Amino acid sequence: MVSSPVDEVDPLLDNIRISEHLESNKKFVKQAKKLRNCCKNFEVFIDWKDSNFVKFGTRCGYRVCLYCSKVRSCFYYNQFIDHIRKIKIPKSMQQRGLRFLTLTLVNQKNLKKGINLFYKSFTKFKRRKYFKDRIMGGLGTIEAKKGEDKLWNIHGHFLIDSKYLDMKSHKRTGKDSLLVREWTKSTRGSSILFLKNVRDYQGSLNYILKYLVKGIENLTPKQKAEFFKITYKRRLIFTFGNFYGIRRPVKPKRYQWISPFSEEYESYLDSDKPKRKKELEDWID
Ligand SMILES: [Zn+2]
Repeated sequence: MVSSPVDEVDPLLDNIRISEHLESNKKFVKQAKKLRNCCKNFEVFIDWKDSNFVKFGTRCGYRVCLYCSKVRSCFYYNQFIDHIRKIKIPKSMQQRGLRFLTLTLVNQKNLKKGINLFYKSFTKFKRRKYFKDRIMGGLGTIEAKKGEDKLWNIHGHFLIDSKYLDMKSHKRTGKDSLLVREWTKSTRGSSILFLKNVRDYQGSLNYILKYLVKGIENLTPKQKAEFFKITYKRRLIFTFGNFYGIRRPVKPKRYQWISPFSEEYESYLDSDKPKRKKELEDWID
């Protein structure tokens, strides 16, 4: 079992710890600062529902930030839920529809090399004929966990729209099933994968998106900093086929941003005065 010290830790405190590790690399000083300051500054909005002022913290948006990765998974949920509702939940192995696919590499010594290998292997896998013929699209996210053997277990969780995928022929032929063989060919020998049924839409999407948070939850701050550097500016979520290019539905905006130089901001300051006075008093106490 990997212990999870993060459970009891405030996400923003965790960010400070991660940023301390990030800072040691000159290239990431700026990012370390942004991470450390996540939600420290805020912007003011008007809530059109009740015309009240609301404050939202300026977020770092980084995946290693537990707070921002939760917000991010909500964004993705709204982006994909309507799309997946149009796809069937298959009643049999033969039917086309939604399935869970987990792709795993054999445990890796080096996190950086392992993650690179995963990205590369998945690209190869996608280009193979079997994949193109049978998998219409999907989305997924990558997870890295340190195992008891001290090696890195790197894998991706995917929600796919596919036709029948062969996971059974090994019983007949004695060789690996077709899907396993395809993944093995793409990874230089890592032939571990799982296919699972999907039961419902909301649950299936939540299951995949939870790995955006879970994918980093069990890492120590030092490991998170390492993960950050390796995955910086790289895709965190894989979308392909008919999941590619789906936009978030446009909803009427509930909150409107208020410029700090506007009259509205002045009235916000007035309305917030008693509360801010109290905050200051509490702080002095
Ligand atoms: Zn953040």
